Amino acid sequence: MKLAFFNNKTYDKVAFEKENEEFKNDISYFDLGLTKETVSVLKGFEAVCVFVNDKLDADLIALLKTAGIKLIALRSAGFNNVDLVAANSLGIKVVRVPAYSPSSIAEHAVGLVLTLARKIHKAYNRVRDGNFSLEGLTGFELRGKVIGVIGTGKIGAAFAKIMHNGFGCTVIAYDPNPDHELEKAGIMYTSLEKIYSESDVISLHCPLTPETKHIINSTSFKLMKPSVMIVNTGRGALIDTKAIIEALKKKQIGQLALDVYEYEDKLFFKDLSDSVIEDDLIERLLTFPNVLITAHQAFLTDTALAQIAKITLENIKAFEKGDKLENEVGA
Ligand code: NAD
Repeated sequence: MKLAFFNNKTYDKVAFEKENEEFKNDISYFDLGLTKETVSVLKGFEAVCVFVNDKLDADLIALLKTAGIKLIALRSAGFNNVDLVAANSLGIKVVRVPAYSPSSIAEHAVGLVLTLARKIHKAYNRVRDGNFSLEGLTGFELRGKVIGVIGTGKIGAAFAKIMHNGFGCTVIAYDPNPDHELEKAGIMYTSLEKIYSESDVISLHCPLTPETKHIINSTSFKLMKPSVMIVNTGRGALIDTKAIIEALKKKQIGQLALDVYEYEDKLFFKDLSDSVIEDDLIERLLTFPNVLITAHQAFLTDTALAQIAKITLENIKAFEKGDKLENEVGA
């Protein structure tokens, strides 16, 4: 199949070229994202492969239809960036990679927790600068702490198990669809309010939907312990960014780790080190000593990249053969 691959990075191409030796698609890699401006390259292509910050709204999907695109292959688990109703109404199929390596994201979330809990980000810079003082680096131990997990699907469950089995934490969880196997493993389901009021660390692993947008907001901070650490590896808009900046300023929360950011689409995955950053919210977040940000890298492991490439190419093959699309996302 003739596939247009947008938002290509070196690591994507390496993984896809390796897997494509078996699938033999005709893939054109474009470094730019898929937008109304770049859609003009699509003459002769049947499918597009896009990532999390390609915003496929109704207008762009109409342009895809005109260009003859029949399949949108997301190389991500989340699909909040695609207008599924528009795609459905125009007969364009949408497939995704529902699970590639939940451990990649869960382990990154654990890494963020440990980094903040033991101030490793500050220690790293300090030692490199020849400053071997320990003043201000007192951390806290995870053993016995209460970890609140919001969303216990594949990633949330993996994170909950690491914190419970590996660190000896008490793990409480909120999910409208509780996982009974997880309960047997010692994770206790509770209300969102209890997660907010009892947790020492709150980690977000639910999808971004109209119900979960700003699930962490100015009202939730009022219920939380002032020492709470909030970790978001889900989607940026799960947190009301303006409200969390105010909460940090008022010391309503203790620490914040983000791998995703509400307005990341203009920033993340780009080297802007020589540019003037116009986003004042991220610049304010970066000034706090108790905020740690990674740029949507939780998925970025060799295992996950290989899986993403393999499953995306299997999705495309199934579409080509007219087989049932197991990983289709419908409206
Ligand atoms: P999943 O579908 O296996 O699990 C999602 C869970 O969230 C489900 O159990 C669902 O019942 C639950 N949920 C739905 N609505 C909820 C609500 N209102 N409150 C609490 N829980 C709710 O998905 P997953 O594979 O575990 O991925 C979770 C999310 O992680 C994805 O939607 C995606 O946004 C994000 N993600 C981030 C990265 C990254 O690199 N940072 C990579 C992959 C996925």
